[in-house]
Amino acid sequence: MSAARPTGDELYELIRELYPICRSLTGDGVRETLRILSRYVPLEIHEVPSGTPVFDWTVPREWNLRAAWIDSCDGRRVVDARDSNLHVVSYSTPVRRRVSLEELRAHLHSLPDRPSWIPYRTSYYHESWGFCVTEQQLASLTDPEYDVCIDSTLAPGSLCYGEWLLRGRSAREILISVHVCHPSLCNDNLSGIAVSALLARKLREHEREYSYRFLYVPGTIGSITWLSRNAESARRIAHGLTLVCLGDPSPFTYKRTLRGSAEIDQAAALALRESGFAHELIDYFPFGYDERQYNSPGFRLAVGSLMRARHGRFPEYHTSADDLGFVAPAPLQESLDVCSAILDVLDGNRVYRNARPFCEPQLGRRGLYRAIGGEPDVADLELAMLWVLALSDGTCSLLDIATRSGLRFGLVQRAAEHLNAHGLLEARASGAEARETACASS
Ligand SMILES: [Zn+2]
Repeated sequence: MSAARPTGDELYELIRELYPICRSLTGDGVRETLRILSRYVPLEIHEVPSGTPVFDWTVPREWNLRAAWIDSCDGRRVVDARDSNLHVVSYSTPVRRRVSLEELRAHLHSLPDRPSWIPYRTSYYHESWGFCVTEQQLASLTDPEYDVCIDSTLAPGSLCYGEWLLRGRSAREILISVHVCHPSLCNDNLSGIAVSALLARKLREHEREYSYRFLYVPGTIGSITWLSRNAESARRIAHGLTLVCLGDPSPFTYKRTLRGSAEIDQAAALALRESGFAHELIDYFPFGYDERQYNSPGFRLAVGSLMRARHGRFPEYHTSADDLGFVAPAPLQESLDVCSAILDVLDGNRVYRNARPFCEPQLGRRGLYRAIGGEPDVADLELAMLWVLALSDGTCSLLDIATRSGLRFGLVQRAAEHLNAHGLLEARASGAEARETACASS
């Protein structure tokens, strides 16, 4: 499998490289991550100072961790952040002192049902310190006192995010947004980070209709910060996707935009149908990832979310079991292919008007019927031409036609190119101008 999927292996290797880095909302882990991603995406790195108001929020202080451990009083190290970044509650305030077992236990988090897993916990907006441990580690703590050390800094600094705009023929944009704030967790969301990075590299290979904006932001506060500073750019975003949990072998899940009938909702449904992979289309709900901010009433951007396992619904979610063994090259490759297919549909979508709308034009006379040479699927292509002619009244897009006819988008696109070359269609709108139409399948 891996030999046939070199990109899957590359995605997996990128995840392996990013896995050991201690990321959080802010701090050097995010910077190091963006530096590595810059090999794939020519990122512009932004630093927004702590204390900056962003809508109803404030950019937090910057958090960095040097070391953290729990020692027994006779010097045995019983917990060490060098073994797992998840051992420290993210945004823990610094602490170094001897504590009673009772006090220590009040600062420990574990998973009784999963005794060998470490939970992932954060305390971004409430000052405290804590450790996450396995249930086995917790059970081994029997001494009356322990020495604890969290050598962290929580101080004025900045929030860092990465951004890249790939300019297409149109100024209208497609947004790809991923969160970069989780430490050593592979599916959520190193998979989304890796897939988007290689997607960005792939999009650069050919000129595109749309412009594409890639955002690498800490969850929630990062997208809020970006939106608060980029109201003008946000108005150009026609469609968008958040990418999360794309490395596990579960069926795909596409979460629709808030309105639920956007062009990207239709494009995702079609691309998933054509992929042949098992999938589920689900309606919008107001939790999850940064699609919440993009879809908020002040912006109402048509941003959906593509994932495989749904966050919060797989046992490994936000635990140390979301590790390098939980994701694999083959599902990563499939995810990249599906993302790419969704964007190809959006980019290739057009609205035409039949230039000979009074009854069917005579295709045979133009060499378009039973006469197209060199096409491997002449009968299908003829059928697609008939669908395009029948539905192209200036309101139906090629995406509408593919959805309704059950034909593949690429075939419908090719049929339209033939008809267009023979003067039988008038272009009404490019993909970047095409809107949701009343002519969806029904
Ligand atoms: Zn998460």
